[in-house]
Amino acid sequence: MKVLKFGGTSVATPEAIGRLVRIVSSAAKQEKIIVVCSAISKCTDALIKIGHKAASSDSSAGADIETLKCRHHALIESVLNDRNKVEALSECDAEFERLSAFAQSISAEGTISETSLDQIQTFGELLSTRIIARCLSEEGGVSVQWIDSRQIVRKSGQDVDFEATNANIAQVLAAHPDTEVFVAQGFIASNKNGAPVTLGRGGSDFSASIYAAGSCARVVEIWTDVPGIMTSDPKKIPFATTIPYLSYASARAMAEFGAKVLYPPTVEPARKAGIPICILNSFEPDAQGSLIIANPPHCAEGPLGLTSLPSSELGRLPADMIVPKVQNCSSEMIVLVGNSLPDNASARAEKALQRIAHSPVQTAGDNVFVEVDPESSRDALMSMHREFFEFKPLEVVHLFIAGYGAVGHALTALIRDHVKEIAGRSGKFLRIAGVSNSSRFVINAAGIRPADIDTLLPYGQEASGGAFFDAIGQMALRNAVVVDCTDSESIGARYEEFFRRGMSVVSCNRRAFAVPYARYSAMKAAAADYGLSLKYDTTVGTSLPVLESIAGNAFSGERTLAIEAVVSCTLNNIITSYDGANTESIATLLRRAQDIGLTEKDPRSDLGGKDALRKLLILAREAGFPLEADEVEITPMLEKEFFDCGIDEFYQKLSAWEPRFIERENELDNMGMRQRFVASIRRDATVPKGYKAQIKMELVGMESPFFWISGTENVVIIRNEGSAPLVIKGPGEGSLMAASSVLNNILSL
Ligand code: ASP
Ligand code: MG
Repeated sequence: MKVLKFGGTSVATPEAIGRLVRIVSSAAKQEKIIVVCSAISKCTDALIKIGHKAASSDSSAGADIETLKCRHHALIESVLNDRNKVEALSECDAEFERLSAFAQSISAEGTISETSLDQIQTFGELLSTRIIARCLSEEGGVSVQWIDSRQIVRKSGQDVDFEATNANIAQVLAAHPDTEVFVAQGFIASNKNGAPVTLGRGGSDFSASIYAAGSCARVVEIWTDVPGIMTSDPKKIPFATTIPYLSYASARAMAEFGAKVLYPPTVEPARKAGIPICILNSFEPDAQGSLIIANPPHCAEGPLGLTSLPSSELGRLPADMIVPKVQNCSSEMIVLVGNSLPDNASARAEKALQRIAHSPVQTAGDNVFVEVDPESSRDALMSMHREFFEFKPLEVVHLFIAGYGAVGHALTALIRDHVKEIAGRSGKFLRIAGVSNSSRFVINAAGIRPADIDTLLPYGQEASGGAFFDAIGQMALRNAVVVDCTDSESIGARYEEFFRRGMSVVSCNRRAFAVPYARYSAMKAAAADYGLSLKYDTTVGTSLPVLESIAGNAFSGERTLAIEAVVSCTLNNIITSYDGANTESIATLLRRAQDIGLTEKDPRSDLGGKDALRKLLILAREAGFPLEADEVEITPMLEKEFFDCGIDEFYQKLSAWEPRFIERENELDNMGMRQRFVASIRRDATVPKGYKAQIKMELVGMESPFFWISGTENVVIIRNEGSAPLVIKGPGEGSLMAASSVLNNILSL
């Protein structure tokens, strides 16, 4: 046996009744069913109004009755076939005649008595269930029996007489052994004298629970127009979510403290009989809804939901509900309903309400209470809801860091120091699952503490022959990113393999991109094909937003006419920003930069323009130019003889060259000019390719953004059609900056 209850909106329209018939007839294939129905929506309100009007001899009562009759007629017309329709209409009319007669009988009362008011409300469910019963037997292909709750559910005073009621339920079921679906009215009952009474507004849910207990049903399903018991009233809080499991006590607390979805007394009969209550959405019949059971799973612990009710109503709650002292009777009480709330719950509530005037937060029983002005009740609910219910579960991102040099170190240090803050801001928990340097690697899916890397790495596994990457591939972790902090060309060739294995790549290794254009675009296409990301913003201008600006322009269809860049490394910067006033020589500054790892092993590879070339390739390709390395015209900063010798000889030559360099600088200075090592690509209609790429010393005047560069600053000028040039300028060097740029790329995946 199963009891299915349908609320007012689930019986009020032909579509809703269609859904009801489908739900009931499919349930009836499994077991016997008792369907408990409300009156069609707003019907009970209308009856109350009619009662008041009739008693005060307001002549419009008759018209109101007529309107209500029309609604029922319309429903009958559209849901029943011709033969049934005639009988249904006369049944309906008979009920309305009784209603009119009843209204007539109270017309002398002046103000309507409690008992009359109660009695007039019982018509709604009698009307709706007759239609539903006919519809089910016509459409549902099941044997249906309409039963009369006035003869079954007995009240004694204010309470339900369960003994009598249960006996009646058993009797009526036994009287119809072949019936598959019983249709009963919710909400209505009779008193000791047999007079019709109600179970209180919203009481149909209670009826369902009563029928379930009396028939020893397996489950009682409350079919309604919301997805279940929600973390808050979805009409007030659009972000409310369905609470999947609740204990009977929690469900009762939610209902008693104001959740409208369930009539509070409903819980008790089901609880006593150990029958689960399931709240389901008739508009979305396959959704899970809320399940109320004796021992809900673990997730039903902690904060469950937020409700609100006028503080004055607290006094009317059943005596066993633990409530706080009310400070102000005209306030609204916000209730955080929980099940073993954590100790910090009231502190969190206090924090959430910082900007809203409120009474001190109180804990009573298992719940947290706070009074606010009714005007600010919605704001208070919003803030509290945000605090307790609107969090995204943390997403674990596994990092495989290849290359444990300056950037790798800086990156792991950032993670070590900021992992919690990063998680709080981004919802991503960064877990280092592997690290390798050129000779060894450590790997662990459960995570490697950043502080342990230096200790573990010397004892790690041999990294030669790409063993680290083979190991990463074997692991096949979800949400994994290979972070390439190496400067090895060969790793780039493996990016596609990483995508194939489901990993994204964040790279600051520009050698991986200085490959033929076809390889470069194949690499990008592979990432897109697998729905993964390849990010390499760090490769040009380190943490300056260079690539993202170019990509942004490309996405918005802006045609790039030229890109000009001083994106050279430390070495170039020493030379091009050397002002002669330095007491130290260029050679000395350069050697120091080399010693602390700011330049490449042989600093001349920068002077030759190779590094600038890699950056230019990336810049140009990002802007849509299919640039190849051999198309770039490179004029090295220094003459050939500087490159054709050993490193020591190079430094000697550099010292000898310095006076000439300074002389040239001074000369230019007098002319208001400076020389800069510029990498550029410019559209040029006179060449077959349509563009020209160069890397060379250029003379610039004060009007150029390149004139004003100091230290390790980088400047990139992007000239787009139809808009003023975009100039991006800022510090372009340093491992910390590179690491934070890599981190940004990881978090933006
Ligand atoms: N029809 C009644 C009411 O509106 C009972 C119910 O729908 O639960 O209160
Ligand atoms: Mg209801």
